[in-house]
Amino acid sequence: MTHFVVLSGGLGGARFLTGLRRAAREGLLPGQHGAAAEPRLTAIVNTADDLWLHGLKICPDLDTVMYSLGDGIDPDRGWGRREESWQAAEELAAYGVTGTWFGLGDRDLATHLVRTQMLHSGFGLSDVTAALCARWQPGVTILPMSDDRVETHIAIADADSPSGQRVVHFQEYWVRLRAEMAARAVAFIGVEDATPAPGVLEAIADADVIFVPPSNPVVSIGPILAVPGIRTALGAARAPIVGLSPIIAGDHVRGMARQLLPSIGVEVTAAGVGAHYGARANGGLLDGWLVDTQDVSAVSQLAQIGLKSASVPLLMTSPDATVSMVLSALELVS
Ligand code: GDP
Ligand code: CA
Repeated sequence: MTHFVVLSGGLGGARFLTGLRRAAREGLLPGQHGAAAEPRLTAIVNTADDLWLHGLKICPDLDTVMYSLGDGIDPDRGWGRREESWQAAEELAAYGVTGTWFGLGDRDLATHLVRTQMLHSGFGLSDVTAALCARWQPGVTILPMSDDRVETHIAIADADSPSGQRVVHFQEYWVRLRAEMAARAVAFIGVEDATPAPGVLEAIADADVIFVPPSNPVVSIGPILAVPGIRTALGAARAPIVGLSPIIAGDHVRGMARQLLPSIGVEVTAAGVGAHYGARANGGLLDGWLVDTQDVSAVSQLAQIGLKSASVPLLMTSPDATVSMVLSALELVS
């Protein structure tokens, strides 16, 4: 059975996975002889966005992927549950509890309660994720990148601080501060001591194709690659690794990549992100890189550093548009 593996953040990864699953169900993927022989799909999901809030373990990217593939996502927001209500959050605010800037819906709360209870009983995050997925039936094996605690922290300017800056949790930067100021630095706290979750290295070694979807290169793909062992496993994988640019015409489509890429010294262009990942032949990550048709000039630029690329429309405006992206990515590395 053909095995496709995707490294994923939240929204961009989830939309890409939805297209990949659709292509699989329609029998469009290589190695498929009709829809009957459905391939295996695995998502390795960023967990550095995770936070503890009100005593609950919240895993935004895992939940976005699970709810999206399980048809429980709010399609307009792109996160959280459809038909959500917010009474628990209102009650917390009425008590003057801090941290109410984080959107915590009533339906969503049940997920966090089950997850936290299982973690306190001694289960690992990967076991908990599998248990939650038993309800949602995503059709994709969803693996956290690690069962260990890793948290993205962002340094921002702060005139009131003696050092001139302060450090906030990624969710505070994104949700409370709306990423309105530039990130000065990004750190993945705890990543040096983290190990890949059960099944992660096995999936990479077993994969026939590995995708780097249009997820945020700094805070979604960055932490996955920083977990010790994952980068080496990708370098040794027999599968081709193909990426799709999250930057189109010099900007992110939806998200905050523009505010974050400069903090790691990467230009906010499709070519800049491609060069940041690098060509596998020269010690980088990728065998192929898709850029949008608006960024066609990147193709010849990247050829100079040995990275094979092509330009196709990269807006995930509909599941069909995403299916085309999946097929173009496969074609590039076939
Ligand atoms: P998050 O964890 O919810 O921020 O989601 P991801 O990291 O998986 O994806 C966010 C990134 O997806 C953003 O930084 C955007 O650059 C990118 N993105 C969102 N929509 C699209 C789209 O339609 N096409 C492309 N190419 N990129 C997109
Ligand atoms: Ca995220």
